[in-house]
Amino acid sequence: MNDPIISIRGMTKHYRMGDTVVHALDGVDLNVARGEFVSITGASGSGKSTLMHLIGCLDRPTAGSYVLAGQQVDRMSDRQLARVRNRSIGFVFQTFNLINRTTAVDNVAVPLIYARARGTRARAMQALRRVGLEHRAHHRPSELSGGERQRVAIARALVNNPPLLLADEPTGNLDSRTGEQILELFHELHAAGVTICLVTHEMAVAAQADRVVRMRDGRILEDRPVDEELRAQLLSERTGAEKLRPGRG
Ligand code: ADP
Ligand code: MG
Repeated sequence: MNDPIISIRGMTKHYRMGDTVVHALDGVDLNVARGEFVSITGASGSGKSTLMHLIGCLDRPTAGSYVLAGQQVDRMSDRQLARVRNRSIGFVFQTFNLINRTTAVDNVAVPLIYARARGTRARAMQALRRVGLEHRAHHRPSELSGGERQRVAIARALVNNPPLLLADEPTGNLDSRTGEQILELFHELHAAGVTICLVTHEMAVAAQADRVVRMRDGRILEDRPVDEELRAQLLSERTGAEKLRPGRG
């Protein structure tokens, strides 16, 4: 693969729970090229979030190697990892994870403060503009809709201009119309060159990526580009609840 931004070999994550060991990830190999838009899908408990946390340097693997943007991250100190996370990765969660007692613009500024950047306020405003939320800059999360909160979280993820955006079920807490708008935003960012890894259990969402990775029991079951055939297959696999929602896929 030309210039992979993510290159993972044999990534394994085991959790010890009393007498048993949970094999959350069991030897995953994954390459993602710069500029790709990849969906990761699979049943609950298949290891999607574990993989995203490891890709996002929020956690360390039990075994395996990970090269992110040419840097061997699995051997880095916590301090080095924190730097990589801050500079190279934006993370968007299902539950937004905003700080409730402060405003949208101050939430967006958090990664800049960690990076000791200059012109913090202006750059946070610019990121809010990018997600169409300048007019909500001084609202607190409790004064925003779910879709607006997720936009603030995306602005925060983008404020340092990271090359990689990771999103774990970003539309999971949103109604279908709002989820559609968030996906539109991801498509815009993708068009602007951002590499995107998106975890979703909604096949209609997964089908919008360039490529779909399917997981089961901590392993990759299938990894293939989205073509017409796969798109049709994914849409036919939609759950009853998904089919009831209008306007998807
Ligand atoms: P998914 O996101 O696909 O639903 P996860 O990656 O969250 O799956 O979890 C994969 C497996 O690892 C599950 O069996 C889960 O219970 C287990 N697991 C995840 N995190 C932990 C943890 N911190 N401690 C113990 N087991 C965990
Ligand atoms: Mg999960």
